[in-house]
Amino acid sequence: MESKTSELIFGLSEKNDGIMKLVGEHAAEALINRRNFFATKNIELGRIVDAGLIHGKTVALVDEVQAGQRLEATDGLITDTPNLFLTITVADCLPIYFFDPIKKVIGLAHAGWRGVLLNIAAVMVDKLVGNFQSQPQDLLVTIGPHLRSCHFIVQPDVADQFFQYQKFIKTTSAGQAIDLAGIVAQQLESSGVLVGNITVSLACTYDEQEKYFSFRRDKPAEVEAAVAYTGLLS
Ligand SMILES: [Zn+2]
Repeated sequence: MESKTSELIFGLSEKNDGIMKLVGEHAAEALINRRNFFATKNIELGRIVDAGLIHGKTVALVDEVQAGQRLEATDGLITDTPNLFLTITVADCLPIYFFDPIKKVIGLAHAGWRGVLLNIAAVMVDKLVGNFQSQPQDLLVTIGPHLRSCHFIVQPDVADQFFQYQKFIKTTSAGQAIDLAGIVAQQLESSGVLVGNITVSLACTYDEQEKYFSFRRDKPAEVEAAVAYTGLLS
């Protein structure tokens, strides 16, 4: 999926673009895949800031200084620098894209179930408000393709940790189905984001086998992940 206007681009690579995770046994291949993929968008790798991802809630503010770098132990990135592109990798986790069209600031967060429990979405909003004077009601947020509740079925060890989000949990014969995007949308609303400004992709990474990597579906020995990206165009 990709969305592009004169001022903003954001999207998610697809399976045929190849593996995009820059660490692990696919690292060399991923670097080539990224170069090819972003070349089609006229984006050089030196203009990308990549988040290292640890299923935490650390959000970094980045600018020219971090261009071309990978930030370890970071799950969220924010910038107001034009032509600087933020990336994370996902293989079922939620890519959450933020855009403040008034202050011209963007953000990108990675959230699996741990990140949802940690409420990284609220940290993103707080950083936008605190550092860029964003008004929460101006923020446009998109939750991209991810493992939707049809396939995010968990056992009590995980489900019990979502006790405060009962309305997003359904009991099925296989276990508890959790609607992570629904929870994130509620968290965003609690932070002042307008419900009408939140878009949730209907694509489930598990279901769309031709298009998306899914760790839960494929259970690869080494994670095969897509790249989510966003950038302000100038
Ligand atoms: Zn599904």
